[in-house]
Amino acid sequence: MVNTPATAVAAARHILTRLHEVMASRTGAQAKLNKVVEIIADELSSEVCSVYLLREGMLELYATRGLKQEAVHVTRLAPGEGLVGMIARNVETLNLDEAAAHPDYAYKPETGEELFHSFAGVPIVRREDAVGVLCVQHTDPRRYEEVEIEALQTVAMVLSELISNAGLVDEHPGDVRTAGTQTQIVSGLQLVMGMARGQAVFHQPRITIEHTVAEDVEAERARVYSAFAKMREQIDTLAGASEFGVDGEHQEVIETYKMFAYDEGWSRRINEAIESGLTAEAAIERVQQRTRMRMRQIDDPLLADRMHDLEDLSNRLLRIVSGQLGTAAQLGLRQDAILIARNLGPAELLEYDRRRLKGVVLEEGSLTAHVTIVARAMGVPVLGRVRDVRHLINEGDPILMDVAENRLFVRPSPDMEEAFDSKLVMTQKRRAVFAAMRDLPSVTLDGTRVELMVNAGLRDDVGALDVTGADGIGLFRTEFQFLVSATMPQRERQQRLYRDVMEAAGDRPVIFRTVDIGGDKALPYLREDDADEENPAMGWRAMRLALEREGLMKAQARALLEAAAGRTLHVMFPMISEPWEFEAGRDLFEQQRQWLTDRRKMLPVAIRYGTMLEVPALAEVLDLLLPRVDFLSIGTNDLTQFLFAADRAHPKLAERYDWLGLAILRFLDRVVRACDAASVPVGVCGEMGGRTLEAMALIGLGIRRLSITPASVGPVKAMIRSLDLPSLRDHVTTILRQPVTDPRASLVAYAEAAGVELN
Ligand code: PEP
Ligand code: MG
Repeated sequence: MVNTPATAVAAARHILTRLHEVMASRTGAQAKLNKVVEIIADELSSEVCSVYLLREGMLELYATRGLKQEAVHVTRLAPGEGLVGMIARNVETLNLDEAAAHPDYAYKPETGEELFHSFAGVPIVRREDAVGVLCVQHTDPRRYEEVEIEALQTVAMVLSELISNAGLVDEHPGDVRTAGTQTQIVSGLQLVMGMARGQAVFHQPRITIEHTVAEDVEAERARVYSAFAKMREQIDTLAGASEFGVDGEHQEVIETYKMFAYDEGWSRRINEAIESGLTAEAAIERVQQRTRMRMRQIDDPLLADRMHDLEDLSNRLLRIVSGQLGTAAQLGLRQDAILIARNLGPAELLEYDRRRLKGVVLEEGSLTAHVTIVARAMGVPVLGRVRDVRHLINEGDPILMDVAENRLFVRPSPDMEEAFDSKLVMTQKRRAVFAAMRDLPSVTLDGTRVELMVNAGLRDDVGALDVTGADGIGLFRTEFQFLVSATMPQRERQQRLYRDVMEAAGDRPVIFRTVDIGGDKALPYLREDDADEENPAMGWRAMRLALEREGLMKAQARALLEAAAGRTLHVMFPMISEPWEFEAGRDLFEQQRQWLTDRRKMLPVAIRYGTMLEVPALAEVLDLLLPRVDFLSIGTNDLTQFLFAADRAHPKLAERYDWLGLAILRFLDRVVRACDAASVPVGVCGEMGGRTLEAMALIGLGIRRLSITPASVGPVKAMIRSLDLPSLRDHVTTILRQPVTDPRASLVAYAEAAGVELN
């Protein structure tokens, strides 16, 4: 073969044309395969060409030209055994002038291969796993040219189509075992507790390539050209709209996407692959495989990350070219699903059908990121930071999730299914116990009442009030409606939602928090021109943004006031840092109230104004704030991120600081005492309050209102009903005054000794 790109392309094209004829022929599978090795040996002027296929976990010699025919279906190698085994296991290419000199060389006498010196082999890849190996051998010790290796790789790709589509393997395709068919157990970071069963669905589904050999090269070139144009347009829009969220990491991702999307080298390589006779889909995948193989040899985590980006983009291009444009949500879930994604925005998650979405597995994610909170609100278990999950799981794989055990069973064995089922029964029984407590009061053993409310944000969440028997909604995140809308929800729409929620809640209070947008809850339709913030969580979000965008806040105030006509309206402002911000918010509501009064509209019978305490600075001016507010709600998610200067969405920091650390306990103690002295009711509405041990500590500090995720109401109530408050108070006071190194351990020990039910 001549070593110039043009002739290399022409040669590959020639091979593909011949292979195409074989594929289209009506001969049997083995005959096809025999013909394939003939063609390749011939085209590459190689004395030997062999195909090994992975069957029942072994690489079996399926066809050869040049080796002894008696060895066919007899020679078998385990993955990792010999050169062929290494190629399959590592999904890598080998090109050796002296095969026997390689440390992994395994001699198989029945093949008669001792005659041959040079050896080149490439994996036959299906969905990133090797399902076989294609190799050539030669008597002269010579290295195969790069173009020859590339031709082999292209042929291997077509072979993979033959294997799965044209029946090269006579048995059921399930018998062609890939590296990704064995049972696997993986763990990650426990984000939302729960158990789930379903089939793996990729948020951005992987495309199965139906045809690899092009009928019309020009047509394929045109397809890929317009796909590139469309993809670039999408990426530009994405970058422009910050749809991904505006935190630094995502911005970086988008920048990288842009860089790859416009990378000339990438599109040139795809065009070359088309030129050699592949379809647009196969060409994109072919180039991606090559990049994947190259990157595997580079041990650099930063590059590996970039690799994911290119992978995502390559998948996007594939989706466009194959006409499968949407995410799994847009395509619709057809059965119980476990969603697999690198990461998700809260809005993306909300697009899913809640009846079918059973669980979420993310490569990234953190405990207090909004997507986690939304998932919790939806009652969907989430396991985060599962490394390389998209390479461990195939679309459609059966999955069992047990987040409490930090286990994800991929393609589970019957034993695992059985154990899972019995645990599920136990969990359901426990849930039944909690359900039976629904109408029991939330009081400690000594008769102190602790109000248990739920956090909500979607219309459907209100049902949780009846299911759990909670005392009301302690935090209604009004921004969720904004997040799920493609355009700004108009006042009438807001009003309808608020009224529906209050009606469903009946006489139980609903605390509406005004919009907390910005941060990781960016809205594509509400983008600031100068939105490139370095620290969006500490940036132009919540009240800061709302007070400037007065129209937005006025519309919300009107919607709330009108929706609450004849009732008591509870309003709470997010991210208040100084008392004047609270006053500005309240004044705005009062002006709207006056406006409605002037027009003789019906009004709420009373308005209770409160604020979130999420910014530590506010705690320093409680003497000024408390006389002005009707209630205070501590948002521990943001509060702890600011107290520790630790990004709540940063995966590495997710487990670094403990909610039961002394700094937080002391901080909260101070706030609770100030509120008690001013007779201002104070509650906690962050995720912390939904964990039994943390909730116990909060109650020990004097908190008497918790607003938590609905699933936590049962366990937390059971804990409260087993509490002896005086002894708990003593214990917490001791921790505050005579600090121990590990307050968490001390609280656990207390709970055990005092018989507190932590579940
Ligand atoms: C908080 O910060 O604790 C909180 C409840 O608000 P959010 O999680 O919506 O920011
Ligand atoms: Mg907050």
